[in-house]
Amino acid sequence: MKFLMVGAGFSGAVIGRRMAEAGHDVTVIDARDHVAGNCHTERDAQTGVMVHVYGPHIFHTDDEEVWNYVNAFGRFKPYRNRVKSTTQGAVYSLPINLHTINQFFGKTMRPDEARAFIEEQADTSINDPQTFEEQALRFVGPDLYEAFFKGYTEKQWGCSPTELPASILKRLPVRFNYDDNYFFHRFQGMPEHGYTPLVQAILDHPNITLSLSTPYDPAMRADHDHVVWSGPLDGYFGYDLGRLGYRTLDFERFTAEGDWQGCAVMNYGDPDVPFTRITEHKHFATWEEHEGSVLYREFSRACGPDDIPYYPIRLVEEKALLADYVARAEAESGVTFVGRLGTYRYLDMDVTIREALDTATAFAVAMDSGVPLPVFSAQPL
Ligand code: UDP
Repeated sequence: MKFLMVGAGFSGAVIGRRMAEAGHDVTVIDARDHVAGNCHTERDAQTGVMVHVYGPHIFHTDDEEVWNYVNAFGRFKPYRNRVKSTTQGAVYSLPINLHTINQFFGKTMRPDEARAFIEEQADTSINDPQTFEEQALRFVGPDLYEAFFKGYTEKQWGCSPTELPASILKRLPVRFNYDDNYFFHRFQGMPEHGYTPLVQAILDHPNITLSLSTPYDPAMRADHDHVVWSGPLDGYFGYDLGRLGYRTLDFERFTAEGDWQGCAVMNYGDPDVPFTRITEHKHFATWEEHEGSVLYREFSRACGPDDIPYYPIRLVEEKALLADYVARAEAESGVTFVGRLGTYRYLDMDVTIREALDTATAFAVAMDSGVPLPVFSAQPL
């Protein structure tokens, strides 16, 4: 078959590679002048620092097959994400751990004491937390919620945490020990030469033709048997039912000499600080040494038509519109919607790759049995 992959991020690259390996003819296009989508990394010409151009991306997974898959295409260096938060005039360790709790409350508690202390703060009348705020009040109580989550989340999502689902906060652990690893996954690391060469290596196959700076044109359909769309779901339909809401990010780039903040990611919890976090990119490549430094101040806002979509909002209104687009998609033939934008979900890189591998398997099974290929890499609703 002749496949057209629209988008050269992880979804398009992984599915394209699998189809190419199975002997199919694969064309990958991307409107941008680079592969890797929002994971794209680029070495800064002046300082030599590897910059995460569209914001910080740390690879972490529990999925051994996904970990082996990415390691087959590029060497990973050990990396542990240890985030700090500046809030209410002090610097704390994130995710909330025993150090954070002791420092914040001016105490010297051991794990069991801290657990009991936090349980006293927590609102135990909340049995089944539905919203972000309920989840926070139930598990960390009002003071930690106010300092670390409320302001940050209002800035990040542009709405009250009472409107957001509990699932967003469930991304972050709370620990009653001194483990300050941001993620609880077994595997964690950073590609030695950045994400872009990794994705390039996945795309490097004789049956794959890659065209960058090439926007999709519906006329391309005629030359291909199947389209794999990793762009925005609503974008495929020309946004004709309206636009699915996203948050976009603005990065205020600045440079410095030496070590400006002492860590890769510093979050800012206070509501009156307009940015959510500052990233010092050289700390993502702990094995490299650079005199100069490149930093991003990160601001979040509603995504306009000409902005890059980052985080799908997925509140009640968006979900109703999403259901309409899903129905439209299901009535189409010859196209599969994949990945973060194609299924309008908040996806980490490892989940994106897992779903891409599974979609490639589903393609092979469907082709063997002569049935249509799946419409989605995973259900958007
Ligand atoms: N969050 C917060 N304070 C922080 C870090 C995160 O309130 O210091 C909340 C915020 O709502 C954010 C969510 O937790 O959107 C998930 O955080 P994560 O670090 O996973 O976000 P990402 O790195 O994907 O932007």
